[in-house]
Amino acid sequence: MTGTCEIGQKPSTPRSEAPVTWTLTKARDDTVTRKMTITEQRTLLALFAHPDDEAFGAGGTLARYAAKGVRVALICATRGEVGGIADPRLATPETLAQVREAELHCAAEALGISEVTFLGYRDSGMAGTSENEDPRAFVNVAAEEVVAQLVGIIRRLRPQVVVTFEPNGGYGHPDHIAIHRHTVAAFHAAVDPTRYPDQGAAWQPARLFYTAIPRSFFLEMRDRLDAMGADTSEFARFEESGAGWPDEKIHVTLDVAGAIEAKWAALQCHRTQFGPDNLFRRLPEDALKEMMSREHFALAWPEPSPGLQLQDLFVGLGETE
Ligand SMILES: [Zn+2]
Repeated sequence: MTGTCEIGQKPSTPRSEAPVTWTLTKARDDTVTRKMTITEQRTLLALFAHPDDEAFGAGGTLARYAAKGVRVALICATRGEVGGIADPRLATPETLAQVREAELHCAAEALGISEVTFLGYRDSGMAGTSENEDPRAFVNVAAEEVVAQLVGIIRRLRPQVVVTFEPNGGYGHPDHIAIHRHTVAAFHAAVDPTRYPDQGAAWQPARLFYTAIPRSFFLEMRDRLDAMGADTSEFARFEESGAGWPDEKIHVTLDVAGAIEAKWAALQCHRTQFGPDNLFRRLPEDALKEMMSREHFALAWPEPSPGLQLQDLFVGLGETE
């Protein structure tokens, strides 16, 4: 049984009948009608920069889909070796990479992620620090080198859905911006058989999403802290760095309350990062869990029509929720 489906619309044929061929209406050019046969296992590929990036913005989503039988794969560009150390008993600057690698494996298990790949680049540190200058830093690696690897991974895993940071990387971290840029390039290159022909057969993922923390999230958190009489001066820094995605450009708001304990467990795995001094810890646990029970995404490709709202990341791609 075959049928066609426009992006964002419900399929016109019963979802249970497979295989189903969906025609993407957003063809990349006028001469080619691209068709995908969704007989593959549903796969979600998430690409981030450091261990812990996966847990904060998308952990509930990754856990939710993993629990539904979606294969969830995670690419982590660096081992976060120049990040903070919440408690000196946990790591030293020399051991931090190793410790954070183990923390990510712990989190991946909590979330049900089936495959974790470290690209092995060096953490570039926050903007303006000397770590930015290290030739091994992720930001200094040639785009072609990174994109070739990502194209190879996309073609091997054949995900329907790809997720990465929005262009500002949440709060402007250079590595977040770099993995965003390389992922976008790889997403579009993976479909073109003339590009990186040694990286496997061309593959067209159906959708590219950005994880996004809406401005309203920061405002809500500041208001909640204000109401408690807590210090909210750090929020000025977020505002300066342009943190917070416009709420009107959120296309998916996922209720991940059912996966909040898995997300919480993953956060606890990142002990060097999510220590008692963490900004989020200033909220009572219940309030924090409530705020973290919604995760937000912007559809980057295909280009969303104005006002588009999708029920979830895979809706309309073939299988029932
Ligand atoms: Zn990060």
